[in-house]
Parts: sequence; C-alpha cells; structure tokens
Amino acid sequence: MDKIKVGVSACLLGQNVRYDGGHKHAQWMTDAFSEWFDFQPICPEVEVGLGVPREPINLVQVENKIRVRAVNNPNLDHTHKLHLLADQYIPELETFCGYIFMQKSPSCGLHKVKVFCEDGENQIGVAGGAFSTQVIKNHPSLPVEEASCLADSEVRAHFLTRVFAHSDWQKNVLISPSVKSLKDFHRRYWLLFKAHSEPLLHQLDQLLADANNSNNSHLLNSYEAIYRDCLAARPQRNNHVAVMCHVLNELEPLLQAQQVLNLEAMINQYQNQLFNKSKVIEALLECIKVSTKESLLEQKYFEPYPSKLL
Ligand code: SF4
Repeated sequence: MDKIKVGVSACLLGQNVRYDGGHKHAQWMTDAFSEWFDFQPICPEVEVGLGVPREPINLVQVENKIRVRAVNNPNLDHTHKLHLLADQYIPELETFCGYIFMQKSPSCGLHKVKVFCEDGENQIGVAGGAFSTQVIKNHPSLPVEEASCLADSEVRAHFLTRVFAHSDWQKNVLISPSVKSLKDFHRRYWLLFKAHSEPLLHQLDQLLADANNSNNSHLLNSYEAIYRDCLAARPQRNNHVAVMCHVLNELEPLLQAQQVLNLEAMINQYQNQLFNKSKVIEALLECIKVSTKESLLEQKYFEPYPSKLL
C-alpha cells in the first residue's frame, strides 16, 4: 500500500533541530501512524538558516502586526523569511494529505502560541506561529492539527477522516479524473458527508446532478473545494442520528420487526447520550453485512480510516 504523504514538524520525529539542539519526539505518533503515513519532516527555522543551536525566538506584537523576533535581539526579525518559506512550499504541500505541527512554537504552533508586547517583557495574547499560519493561508483546506491535540480521540478521528479521504481523492479521482470516478467517490462518501454537513452534501449532490459526461476541470475543482469544507465541519450528534436513521430505513425491509425495534431503541439512546456511537454503528454494520446491501457496504462512514489508528 502506498503510504499517505503527511507534513510534520521535524522535531516531532526526533530530529535534533530545536533551538537548544534537542527534539520533541512524539513517540506515540510515530508508533501509531508510521505504518500508514509517509512523514515529510520540515523544520522551518533550520530551513531559513537559523542553525542549531540558535537564539530562541518569540512572537511579539508590533503596531498591530505579529512579528517573529529573536528573544535577545529584537533587531533580528525572521517573519518575512518564514512566510517566504511557506510560499516556496506551495507546490509540494499541494501533494500532502495533512500536516501535524508542533504546539507552542512561534514558527509551527497552530493555536495558542504566546505573543509578547514589543519589549518582550509581558505576554499580551496568543496566536498561530509564523510558518504554520502562512501554510494555512496558502492551503485553507489542508487538514492540519497540533500533535498534542491528536491525543484527544475526537480530534484524532476528525483529522484522520480528512487525511484518508483526501488520500482516496488523490488515488481514485485525481489520478484519472472523470465524471464516473467523481460519482463513484461521491457514492462511497455520501453518508460520511451527510454526517459532517447536510447543506454541503446538498451542494455536492446538486453539482453532480448538473454534471454532463465530459471531463470537466471546473466541476472537479468545485467539488473538491466543497467536499473538503464539508469534512472540515465537525460532525454533530444530530447528524449522526440522521445517518443512522437513514441506514435503518434502507435496511428495514430486510430485517425482522424485533431487530428494527432494537436498532431504533439504540439510536434513541445514542441521541439522548445514553449509548456509545460506536456500538450503534457496530450493530448497524452487522445487519448490513448480513443483508449484503452493496450501497451500504461500500460507505466510508463505517470505517473512514483503519480502525486500529484510534
Ligand atoms: S517546532 Fe518547528 S521550528 Fe521549532 S524545532 Fe520543531 S520543526 Fe523546527
């Protein structure tokens, strides 16, 4: 199996690229993901020539703008170089299916990197790092996450769902684009899209309903932008309930009355937060397997990524 290209802050892989010559190896991450991911390590601070070891840097606010400066020498401003590096990576990052960043770093952090006032004395807020922020600006639909956030099973599930879907898109649609490959993809992801965003699923349905049989790059680009936005939306409990009810409706003619009642009860309990989602899905999946209903068996909703990754 071809591994999936995923960008990663190099220090997370154990490379000694930090300002103090050390690393921040996320052993659990390499253990869990290396079988599937072809990690592409990038250390922006090394790549812009800051060297190892190097002066530590900070985010500082200067006239409403966030700058990256050396802690002990405010005349050393690295902001432009880090933005430029992210721009130089644009073609390569188009081939990535995701990116895992190191948290808290003024270059790589995504969410809550400390921002100091201009003299560097006091913290006045938080922001994203200079390189990661520019990466997101250049690739707004790239699945990105901080390594520490992936410890949360819901965050990890959402990230993996998006990464594996994009890999599927690259391998099965982009490689030989056609209306047929697009429709096949849409069919397999239909329930998953429904779970993430019903309005965006509706837009995708509409796009395909209007598609003719020619190879249409505009159609492909529009579809990709919408499907990636769709999966970027966090699935809510009510969306899952709608998917479960849809599946049950499809299965109903093939089930015994008692089985239907049992499944309905499970879905109700899940809706009322009294039952685990994976248990309902397991029960539905068992019935689908017995029914051998192809249109449901092929749905990515039931296993959007290898289950042992969670
Ligand atoms: S956080 Fe980013 S810039 Fe800092 S050492 Fe790691 S890869 Fe390099």
